[in-house]
Amino acid sequence: KYSTDSLVGQGNVRVLVRARPFLPREIESESKCLLSMNSALGTTTLTHPDDIDRGDELWDGVNGTPLFRRVKDAKEFVFDESLWSVDRTTKNAQLVDQGALYDKVGRGSLDHAFEGYHTCILAYGQTGAGKSYTMIGTDDEPGLIPRTCYDLFQRIEKLTTATTTFTVKISYFEIYNEHVYDLLLPTVAESPTPLKVRESPVDGPYVKDLTTYSVRSYAEVEKYLKRGNRQRATAATNMNATSSRSHAVFTIALKKIESDAVMDETTEETNSRIRFVDLAGSERANSTGTTGTRLREGANINKSLTTLGRVISILAESSLASKKRDIVPYRDSTLTWLLKDNLGGNSKTAMIACVSPCDYEESLSTLRYASQAK
Ligand code: ADP
Repeated sequence: KYSTDSLVGQGNVRVLVRARPFLPREIESESKCLLSMNSALGTTTLTHPDDIDRGDELWDGVNGTPLFRRVKDAKEFVFDESLWSVDRTTKNAQLVDQGALYDKVGRGSLDHAFEGYHTCILAYGQTGAGKSYTMIGTDDEPGLIPRTCYDLFQRIEKLTTATTTFTVKISYFEIYNEHVYDLLLPTVAESPTPLKVRESPVDGPYVKDLTTYSVRSYAEVEKYLKRGNRQRATAATNMNATSSRSHAVFTIALKKIESDAVMDETTEETNSRIRFVDLAGSERANSTGTTGTRLREGANINKSLTTLGRVISILAESSLASKKRDIVPYRDSTLTWLLKDNLGGNSKTAMIACVSPCDYEESLSTLRYASQAK
């Protein structure tokens, strides 16, 4: 047992909840909205469908979320931010679209990277809750990764001088069944070989032989991002799985080089890394009838998400004695081991817990995880 304290508002970890809108099939089946949020207080309330009578849904003009008249057993959680998604008909300014989400999470992360620190943004939640919409988005509504990369090159252009230059390298890998697979190989192998994780005293844990590309423009990043997403899907099919069963990690390595104008010698280098993690779906596999590969897959996902929760929970205790930091169980899962430098130290972490508005059990489990990460 590590900590039961809430993660919220502590140290270098921020926890946000993002509710996605109803999908067409959910509107068709007249699913009830079980969530309401108060953006000023950062609260998310989840109500059991049996406790909501049809016709009791009132809409809150300020927060743009439903209000329930009868909220007997509603469960309330507090986060750093509770974010409701855009209502396209009202275009309510309080609602958080992809651009607003970038302003709340991405921009600050980039500021931190330019100051020379590592950052990490994670998307947690059941399959279909909006993780890849949040991280990658669509062509019309790009998510955090494309927006961050776009902004990155704009800033580099502004900040580059005769003596200050920048380099950007990217990589993209996935962790499936505790094994690491490259997502940016020039061609995909029929049976991909897992890569080894190593730890160097200077650079910390890293993936051996991982493909990295130097990129000079947003267009180049976009090309690799698309390739990686395609490979994630193909690899999943080849392994007879779905991509929601793997964690995908996209990394931007930023190097700032300051040189002496006269001698043209490097005087100082600052390295920082921004990591985006689209976590495997958090839904609990139905254990009855689950055997073999599926069972192992589910067990590995549970283990890595539980370890991640513990690690974040320990790091979030700002008053922590340095002694206790030594026992952060990074090495208990491949995911946390590889994220070690991005989660600990002076790094900043944002966890975005994605929830569906109409799935009681899964949303409850996600909200619990996000608020306690036990
Ligand atoms: P996940 O990656 O968690 O499995 P997705 O990102 O694929 O889930 O989201 C499921 C569906 O919901 C997609 O069709 C996506 O476009 C839509 N969606 C998710 N979040 C939002 C949002 N915040 N606003 C609008 N549509 C969303």
